Parts: sequence; C-alpha cells; structure tokens
Amino acid sequence: MTTASLRIDLDAVLANWRALDAMTSAATETGAVVKADSYGLGAARVARVLARAGARKFFVAAAEEGAAVRQALGEGPEIFVFSGHMAGDTEMIGDLGLTPMLNSVEQVKRHVDALPGAAFGVQLDTGMNRLGLEPADWAAVSAELIAAGPKLVMSHLACSDEPEHPMNAMQLKNFRAMTDGLGLKRALSATGGILLGPDYHFDVTRPGIGLYGGLPFETARAVVRLSLPVVQIRTVAPGETVGYANSWTAARESRIATVAAGYADGLSRRFSGKATLWAGDTPCPLVGRVSMDLITVDVTDLPEVPQSLEILGPHQGVDALAEVAGTIGYEILTALGQRYQRSYVGGLA
Ligand SMILES: *Cc1c(COP(=O)(O)O)cnc(C)c1O
Repeated sequence: MTTASLRIDLDAVLANWRALDAMTSAATETGAVVKADSYGLGAARVARVLARAGARKFFVAAAEEGAAVRQALGEGPEIFVFSGHMAGDTEMIGDLGLTPMLNSVEQVKRHVDALPGAAFGVQLDTGMNRLGLEPADWAAVSAELIAAGPKLVMSHLACSDEPEHPMNAMQLKNFRAMTDGLGLKRALSATGGILLGPDYHFDVTRPGIGLYGGLPFETARAVVRLSLPVVQIRTVAPGETVGYANSWTAARESRIATVAAGYADGLSRRFSGKATLWAGDTPCPLVGRVSMDLITVDVTDLPEVPQSLEILGPHQGVDALAEVAGTIGYEILTALGQRYQRSYVGGLA
C-alpha cells in the first residue's frame, strides 16, 4: 500500500522567514522557533535550511529538542531553550552549548551553581502568567544576572494575534519598564508581534507559525501538502450507512472511497462529517466518523477516482482545516502523525 505522504516545501519556509525578516529593520535579527520538531515538520531539515540562509538564533521548548538541533547545525548558531534550566538538564546544556532562558529564581540559582560562566538568557513575565520571572523576582536577581551578561532578555505576548487587544500595549509597557536602559539584547515578538509593528521588534524576533505558513501571517506561503491514499472504493445503495455509529446514510446511490489516515495520524475526530478532501480541483466531502486509521469520502461526483486525495494543499490550508475542527493551524501541524512519509522539496539554494 502506498503510504500517506506529507510534502514539506522548504523553499516556502525560507521565503516566509525572509518575508518576516524584511518586516523589521536591519538592526533587528530574525530568529527561528523550531520547537516541537519545527511544528511537526522536521527541526533538523528546517533549521539547516534557515541556518544556511543566515539565521543564527534558534528557539526550542526543551533541552532535548535543543540537542537535536545542535546535532543538525553543529557549533555556531545559538540555541535558546524556553523552558530554561530544568533539573536534570545540566549536562546537556553544558556539553551542547545550549542557552537556557532562565525563568525563575530557582533556575537562576541552579544555572549559576551548576554551570558558572555558561551562557544563559532571561525570560520575563509581563502579564501572560505562564513562564518567566515576575517583576519582583527580576528586581531581586537582575543585578547579579546583568553582571553575568545574559545573551538575551525576552518576554512573550499573550494576545499578539489580535492587534487591537489592549494586552499588547500593556505587556510592551511592562517589558520596557523591566528592561529599558539596561543595555541588554531584547526580544518580545513571535509571528504576531512582528506584525504589530516596530515598537514590538526590539533586537531579536522569534517567529514560529509564520515560517510554517500559518496565521496570523496572512500572506505566508503554504508549506505543507498532505495526500492520503485510497484503499478501497465501494458503491453504497440509498439508505445504507457508512462507518461507526451509522452516522452517515446515503441519500442516493453513492461511491465511497476508504482512505488510509485517521485520528491516530492527527486527523481530528471532530472532522467527522465536516471536512473536505480534494481530488485535484474537485471537493469531496468526508462522510461518517473519522476512525483511528481510516476515513470515508464521498467520491460519487468524480468521473474517475484518483489513487490519493488531498486534505492539505492549495485548496485547503492548515488554518482552513483547523477551522473545521474549531482549532488553530498550530494544532493541525503539530498533530501530523509519524506514519506519514515526509518528503522535502527545495531548500538547497
Ligand atoms: C512558540 C513560541 C514562539 C513562536 O510563536 P509563533 O506564534 O508560532 O510565532 C515564540 N516565543 C515563545 C516563547 C513561544 O513559546
């Protein structure tokens, strides 16, 4: 059986990185967030392409991810770890030259005790209440940390995908109050923050989703195509049902294609009866329940059923598919299953 194939366009990733880079001044350096295996698309491949194009700062969620990126990139580029210096990560951080973003007084102590003189950054909480030192903690340790020379001081915006949200200006104000005049390299913005304009850019940006073709970067180039093989085709008589729980009943004589991918491959069960697959330019409705490894698609109106149907491609991007399930493009991408055969195009230049 042909396996489901996920095609990842590295030229599109590169074009998106360059486009986001062009939105900030030459004084602002554009990094790249490659956490969660580059949102499911392959951190080693993505990081190498971007490093070749000039990216020098990479961001991951956990030290293990940083280790994989270091292996792909070799020495040179900085790799920042958002979760900071966690207990048990000291060896990896030290041996692989990762830069933990210290998030708490406890992490500051752990880092300074275990790896004196080793690189670090600082994450500040400016209102999101998720990660980072609060203003009082920062006041307590800032003198010691500034003296030690942090590579980067950052914070993260909670509402940057909503440009009009007052939280953006409030977090900007808090970030400035905590960092103005200290002479430190600063970063506040992910993809959404870049789009908010120059006040939010500071010295370094940290785009993730925009690189991979997702909102809020509306003009991003699409990066993924996902086509799923047809396993079997059958004719269903009017009144017959398809799939678990008999949730779809044929209203006319129908041709039903059984397609090899299901919720174990990241196709949400919430797509049941709602999503659309594509045969070239022709939409074909997913009918009945999504099961673990299979979905069923109404192909009655196709003159000829192709060997595979597309669920992500030019007619339906990650955000359009996300909307079907009431989620976001980020979740669609990071859910993409390990059974897909990933193939890469471009990225050589
Ligand atoms: C995930 C993440 C990013 C990237 O965000 P996007 O919205 O994907 O651009 C940047 N900074 C932090 C702290 C993150 O957790």
